[in-house]
Amino acid sequence: MIDGPTDERADDPTAGSSASIADVIAAGPTLSVEFFPPKTDEGAEQLDRTVDELDPVGLSFVSVTYGAGGSTRDRTRDLVVRLNAERNYPAMAHLTCVGSSRSELEALLDDYDASGVHDILALAGDPPADGSPAGGDFTYALELVELVRARGPQFSIGVAAHPELHPRSTDRSSDRDHLAEKLRAADFGVTQFFFDPADYGRMVAELADRDCTTPVLPGVMPLSNPSGIARMAEMSGATFPTDLAARVEAAEGAERDRVVVDATVGLCRALLDSGAPGIHLYCLNRSPIVLAVADALGVR
Ligand code: FAD
Repeated sequence: MIDGPTDERADDPTAGSSASIADVIAAGPTLSVEFFPPKTDEGAEQLDRTVDELDPVGLSFVSVTYGAGGSTRDRTRDLVVRLNAERNYPAMAHLTCVGSSRSELEALLDDYDASGVHDILALAGDPPADGSPAGGDFTYALELVELVRARGPQFSIGVAAHPELHPRSTDRSSDRDHLAEKLRAADFGVTQFFFDPADYGRMVAELADRDCTTPVLPGVMPLSNPSGIARMAEMSGATFPTDLAARVEAAEGAERDRVVVDATVGLCRALLDSGAPGIHLYCLNRSPIVLAVADALGVR
């Protein structure tokens, strides 16, 4: 369980935005959230409110997504730099490499370095949906891990992991081989969302079979919007929990929130009890479910 980590973090010399996320995870268990860069002024105000509302939780870190093909490059950069400077926790920049040139990514990494941001989630990103060549200098996330590593030891590097296999993987064994190789080169992993803790346990065991013990944070998605999450699950290859979705859809108001929070807390507890190094919540820029989950886990 995560009972009491806020106090432990307050006494921990690695706490605060000067610590790397790799250090924070090593001192875990952690509770972190993912944000996306808002497109509108209204969305930006909503996110600012969320960040303030989450302050009492004492988050371990936050991460900020990078739009497909770099479409949110500047917004991601500005948000990560601001959160990292203003808040008492590190902010991690997601970064994709497919379709980008080496010099373009080196310039962005140097900018992050100069701005005090040293936590990068190194991702491949998706090739163009129409099947046209992606162009650029990279094919796989491992190449971006190597590029970031070469910029210096100040960077801490996370990578993506898919408990139910990456949707483009041809077979389980080669998927796990590539994942183990990538995780060994990185400092930690963060998973795609999933709803059955057994999928995470199986992935960790398969990595251990390959002598890979790099910590992997489970990514947990509260099922607050079942139809939207069903679409995301289809794209990411995650099994959609139809029974839970039916229970959420059948409930209304506070009862609906309770069903979502109970299911999320149940999954988080099972993961932490099985040894997961923390929880990364996909919060969709909203605070209420994170606050309820943090309360139930005893984090505040
Ligand atoms: P890789 O690790 O490169 O793997 C991609 C595929 O290639 C896998 O099937 C793998 O098995 C295979 N592979 C790897 N190496 C080799 C090799 N040497 N030979 C043959 N096959 C190989 N996308 C965004 O655009 N922006 C984001 O902000 C973003 N954030 C994410 C956060 C998390 C936590 C996760 C899990 C995903 C995120 N994604 C994001 C999605 C991600 O970009 C896609 O899943 C993408 O398709 C693959 O990225 P990857 O880093 O897992 O790629």
